[in-house]
Amino acid sequence: SAYARELEVAQLAVQRATLLTKRVFHEKAKGTVDKNDKSPVTIGDYGAQALIISALKASFPEDEIVAEEEASDLRTNSELRKTIWDLVKDTSLGDAGAEKTLGGAIKTEDDMLTMIDHGNSKGGASGRIWAIDPIDGTKGFLRGGQYAVCLALMVDGEVTVGVLGCPNLPVDDSAPLTADIGKDATDEGRGVVFSAVLGQGATSRPLTTGALAEQRKISMRPITEIAKATFCESVEAGHSSHGDQADIANKLGITSPSVRMDSQAKYASIARGAGDIYLRLPTSKTYQEKIWDHAAGDLIVREAGGQVTDIHGKRLDFTVGRTLANNKGVVAAPVGGHPQVLKAVQEVLKI
Ligand code: AMP
Ligand code: MG
Repeated sequence: SAYARELEVAQLAVQRATLLTKRVFHEKAKGTVDKNDKSPVTIGDYGAQALIISALKASFPEDEIVAEEEASDLRTNSELRKTIWDLVKDTSLGDAGAEKTLGGAIKTEDDMLTMIDHGNSKGGASGRIWAIDPIDGTKGFLRGGQYAVCLALMVDGEVTVGVLGCPNLPVDDSAPLTADIGKDATDEGRGVVFSAVLGQGATSRPLTTGALAEQRKISMRPITEIAKATFCESVEAGHSSHGDQADIANKLGITSPSVRMDSQAKYASIARGAGDIYLRLPTSKTYQEKIWDHAAGDLIVREAGGQVTDIHGKRLDFTVGRTLANNKGVVAAPVGGHPQVLKAVQEVLKI
């Protein structure tokens, strides 16, 4: 089927990158005494971005890439560079066929920097452009909570393939939504790759095996009664207004508390029907959402039976560069319930 090769490469690239992020968590983050030490995030971000870009370049050398990081800091900081290279050079899927699909390991430290810098596309409305967020939800990552490795392919500005690696979400699509799981939880029963291809539906599969046989369709819960719906929202009040969210829930007659989690794990969770509605309500007039924070999640939710718009009811517009400059906020809900949710959002925000 269309985009089968892109999907396979993207899934394996995300899977390999999550192996690196998990190593960084266990080896560098878990034991850190200083809660403000961001270096595990830096190490994981650069390492995961390098591994994903090298896989994309091996199969699709002509494609452009929009990624969050660039390598200039690493060129001057040899200690940090060495730490990252040590992880990157021996993170592999341990399966010869899969590694072949990814073009194998990165050869040199210098190649690693070149790969990272390939993520400098300006984005736009034409051609094939990949968007990468190597670690989305950095606070969740450090906490041992939710984070996601995010990859999407846009073709002429339309998200066409989307993959989210969520190492800390339950494998079981019907598991109840829970917030944090804690630093000492084991990996048992956790780790999922969510994927979608435009027009082909959305799926989940365990992150550990990656076995195609275990891939299953996911879909949103149809909303029969809006008052029974569950909200997902950001942990960070600076990323989405908790107060407005509570007012909207109130207006819809929803009494169950919203579940707060970091990263695009929110999109993934509603796509599999573990929650129903994801709102991202602007806290600043000037902030522009980044395309890598939304591209994969937008497609996965829509392919699972959802609608994703901004607070004005416009579809997210990925054609205008590295940010969603034409949109404000996000309203994601099952197709049937979206108009009612959007109406409540607009009443509360006085739009
Ligand atoms: P979340 O985990 O859903 O809270 O979102 C994490 C993402 O929020 C990060 O990847 C940032 O790119 C993004 N972000 C940073 N500042 C803001 C802001 N003021 N409003 C909305 N999102 C933001
Ligand atoms: Mg992010």
